[in-house]
Amino acid sequence: MSDHYPDRLWFFAEKGQAAPTRWVAHDDVTKPFSVNMYLCDCARCRDALAAEVARTPRTNLLVRSEGDRLLVTAELALDVWERTAGLEGLLYLPADAIRDVSVPEWPPLWYPQRWFSTTCREDELLAGRTPAVRRVPARQSRAAARRRAEWLADHPDERLHDELEARRSRSHLRLVAGGGTGPTRGRRVRYRRPARDLRLL
Ligand SMILES: [Zn+2]
Repeated sequence: MSDHYPDRLWFFAEKGQAAPTRWVAHDDVTKPFSVNMYLCDCARCRDALAAEVARTPRTNLLVRSEGDRLLVTAELALDVWERTAGLEGLLYLPADAIRDVSVPEWPPLWYPQRWFSTTCREDELLAGRTPAVRRVPARQSRAAARRRAEWLADHPDERLHDELEARRSRSHLRLVAGGGTGPTRGRRVRYRRPARDLRLL
């Protein structure tokens, strides 16, 4: 492996710091997981994952697949691995495949969330729903796939990500305009529940 910065280690690159050493869990099954550590699908990597779960069940893992980016806790990954003899059960998209599994440079999943998929979040926003906090993997529904395909067909020159970000900022503006401006005359202003609040599944 070359020693260049993987795209997700921008934090170290921006600070001019060396990227943490890259290693694979089967090299030392007792070593605590650290940033830039990778898991392969061998039995020793599964043993290393089980040891990590015993120490720190909420260690975050980044799953890069052909069509998605997912974050999962080590505990959920081990559960899926033991029940299905692989990690593919973590994937959101049908017929997707895992490229690699590693420890990201920061742990973005907060309790009780154990699973996050970039594509799933986009599909929920596209459907006008608030993204849910998930403890188990979701699978893309046919309706969600159809909605996404239709949007992409209607907007060949736009990026779905940009559209969803624009919708978010519009809803934020509405929130401020509806409740946050104007004289309150000493009354408490009741804000609408923010759109970024997360539903719990
Ligand atoms: Zn391995």
